[in-house]
Amino acid sequence: MKTQAPPTLSESYSGVPSRLAAIAQEAKDRLYSHKTVPESVPRQHNVRLPPDTSRETFDEAVASLRQALGHENVVLNDKPLVDGWYLEHPNTHDAFHVVDQEELVCSAIAYPASTTEVQAIVKWANNYGIPIYPISMGRNVGYGGSAPRVPGSVVVDLGKRMNKILKTDADNASCVVEPGVSYFALYEEIQRRKLPFWIDCPDLGGGSVLGNAVDRGVGYTPMGDHFANHCGMEIVLPNGELLRTGMGALPGKNGADNPTWQSFQPAYGPYSDGIFSQSNFGIVCQMGFWLMHETGHQSYMLTFPRDEDFTDIVEAIRPLAQKGLLGNIPQLRHVAQELNVTGLPKSHWYSGPDPIPRDVIRKQAAQLPCGDCSWVFYGTQYGDAASIKTQLDIIKSAFSKIKGSKFYLPNDVPPDHYLHSRALVCSGVPVLRELDWLNWKPNAAHLFFSPITPTRGEDAQIVHNINVRLHKKYGFDLFPTLCVAGREMHYITNIIYDRSSDDEKRRAAALMRELIAEAASEGYGEYRTHLLFADQVARTYSWNNNALMRFNETIKDALDPNGILAPGRNGIWPKKYRGKGWELLGDSVEKAVGGRTISPDKVPSKL
Ligand code: ADP
Repeated sequence: MKTQAPPTLSESYSGVPSRLAAIAQEAKDRLYSHKTVPESVPRQHNVRLPPDTSRETFDEAVASLRQALGHENVVLNDKPLVDGWYLEHPNTHDAFHVVDQEELVCSAIAYPASTTEVQAIVKWANNYGIPIYPISMGRNVGYGGSAPRVPGSVVVDLGKRMNKILKTDADNASCVVEPGVSYFALYEEIQRRKLPFWIDCPDLGGGSVLGNAVDRGVGYTPMGDHFANHCGMEIVLPNGELLRTGMGALPGKNGADNPTWQSFQPAYGPYSDGIFSQSNFGIVCQMGFWLMHETGHQSYMLTFPRDEDFTDIVEAIRPLAQKGLLGNIPQLRHVAQELNVTGLPKSHWYSGPDPIPRDVIRKQAAQLPCGDCSWVFYGTQYGDAASIKTQLDIIKSAFSKIKGSKFYLPNDVPPDHYLHSRALVCSGVPVLRELDWLNWKPNAAHLFFSPITPTRGEDAQIVHNINVRLHKKYGFDLFPTLCVAGREMHYITNIIYDRSSDDEKRRAAALMRELIAEAASEGYGEYRTHLLFADQVARTYSWNNNALMRFNETIKDALDPNGILAPGRNGIWPKKYRGKGWELLGDSVEKAVGGRTISPDKVPSKL
């Protein structure tokens, strides 16, 4: 089946570079060939109104916003909802819906063209008491996409008209971007200008450079911590005021931007940037980023034969990472992942309805380049050839202590092997390969469970055991990817479910609930989560009678007294909503699967 061509970068700010057009087409055709749900179904409800807002007030508010932004820049969300796919994603709802498709929806979408227009939207929201929800590109797939937490919020889609690379400074090796600049767009511009820099991108290149950093996403070059490598922000506060952080707070000469805005992060006084990440305290309209100088690089793969090697591998990584011998944040994946990154459906490997049994994974992996192994490590070293050779000698020697480990370079595996796409991502080239595992199930969607543990075998094993047991209990294949740094590791599992099946959704939601609770009872917490689980995760950070949440609420209420900006994001509810039934705790997510609203009963939020 040939589907309609996905948009290219020359057609749309959110499109794919022409170098990837054929790959994108192939990925789309393959995904759509497994789709059994219709493109859209008729809406059950009309426009989902903001809470506590009558249709008359809403219509009046929309008319007034249209006057400020232009009629065409405020669009009602009243058409059938289309989930689309990664490159043609909706800004109307969560394409990977867990609860009803019409639950995490906006009432309308506003498209500002400038910071001034963002300020106008914020003032408008305060006037009408209508919640707004800013997104940059909305490709936060697995964490809620572009959906607002409060149904009926107005999504502020910043990316469509604010997508300029405002500055690239070759001397300072930095850039300043607006929300709609994707990794694809930044990479292509740097290539076009033949600048000697790399960017750092996550597994998929279509996300917003700014949006991903604000949500504290990660990539895989030595500059993989995106928020740590930003420098300077311009933010519209919930009262409409404009703020520059860092050195940007000091006016440059004759009204120019401060010359050290992208050079020195903290400036003077409290370092405030952090409170604008994973929060609902402001709308980020510009952000500076440091770029990495291009360098030699060598990606490689190591395999380990036994499931029980897990703790020894983690123990071997720790000193290497702490001494700075590992070039980037390497990934350690269970061999089950080798099956799903081929892009072949689960049915190709196993016909049963239950999770693939370990012996079947073993048999199938034996036919793949990785062979019959249990864990696969993907790393990259940087520098000139001589230094890479020295680094690799040390690394090979450290891992050789684990019996049966094997080392592979890209030349040792076929051209379509995943290692080649790792080599691109780990040298700052944004690609699309990671979409492949969405072919695992028909209508595949996914949730991430992303706890942090110390880089210590014992801790990693506790979280792994919880995952093994609970994935089995709820009938899901376990796909762990561990991003291992010197002192902590992100243990990320990818829960893949069929979005046409309420039963799978309910089980996926129950699995998330239990994973969050059990990990927390052992002292491990998530670094990021889907919108629907934000309340549960936020409440696990409860030390000293929820001191951290009370602190966040104090800031929220001071900055946003009317509670208009992204209420509920990261579990932070403004006073107006707090304790009134909005929080999704206990089994409320799984109970909402299949139709029940996530809004409190007494809010007149449906027409
Ligand atoms: P991406 O396309 O990179 O995944 P998103 O636009 O989906 O990024 O952003 C991820 C999340 O971060 C959004 O859901 C939103 O809550 C928040 N966010 C994104 N951009 C901004 C911004 N410019 N200002 C404030 N919050 C933002």
